[in-house]
Amino acid sequence: MIADQHLHLERGPHTPENYPVSWLEGYLGTARTHSVDRLGVVEHGYRFLEARGLLPGAWSEGRCLYRLDAYLAFVERAKALHLPVSFGIEMDYVPGAEAGIARFLSRYPWDFVLGSVHFVDGVGVDLETDGPLRRQMGQERLWRRYFSLSRDAVASGLFDVLTHPDLPKIFGASAPFPLEDEYRRTAQALAEASMAIECNTAGLRRPVGEIYPVPAYLAAASAAGVPVSLGSDAHEPENVGHGFAEGIALLRSCGYGEAVHFIGRQRIASPL
Ligand SMILES: [Zn+2]
Ligand SMILES: [Zn+2]
Repeated sequence: MIADQHLHLERGPHTPENYPVSWLEGYLGTARTHSVDRLGVVEHGYRFLEARGLLPGAWSEGRCLYRLDAYLAFVERAKALHLPVSFGIEMDYVPGAEAGIARFLSRYPWDFVLGSVHFVDGVGVDLETDGPLRRQMGQERLWRRYFSLSRDAVASGLFDVLTHPDLPKIFGASAPFPLEDEYRRTAQALAEASMAIECNTAGLRRPVGEIYPVPAYLAAASAAGVPVSLGSDAHEPENVGHGFAEGIALLRSCGYGEAVHFIGRQRIASPL
């Protein structure tokens, strides 16, 4: 049983307030052709008016547009059809906003919560427009802060999965110092928190051209007994299950024999 445990419905003609179930069924159609048996659908938390301010800055403010209740009505309609789909949310970890994030998460019994670090001290790690800000910050500080924030996210206890865990490589620049110690410490933190790490194939579609995270990080997580989930991070139907043959081969080479998905925040493992 293979699950694509991280995908978004957002790139298309609809908004979270008016997704038709047929849009989701298009994703399920691609899943079948890629031998993907189950989907984990998320929305970015910052898109919802009820999460306003949790991710500070003009970038998120401009995307904070939709009513959670309208989206949840779609989720309930889809759930009533008993499709092989779990519904979660991808939340940014923002230091100091833990109580507000917890309050937002408590509005709905999500099947799973992805924890993401997309911003480091106001710099959008995956935003091309923030290139000059990244250069100003410097690669060393970006990478060190990214891992430190990742461990804070893990310690917060808010999330089930740490997503795209070495995102700063997205544009192809590697860290100016060895990262093995960061991998080991973060893997240890994940193990202690009983939280999963994500193998995210979206990196194959980015300038770096490789899966998040690198094999050494996945091997450290595997050695520490950290569960893993597999996700395409597709934002459109055609990328469901993209790169999964490569992802599964990578996971096996790093010592993983199974991957997890979530229902009602319970982890379910299936062989790869
Ligand atoms: Zn993300
Ligand atoms: Zn995502």
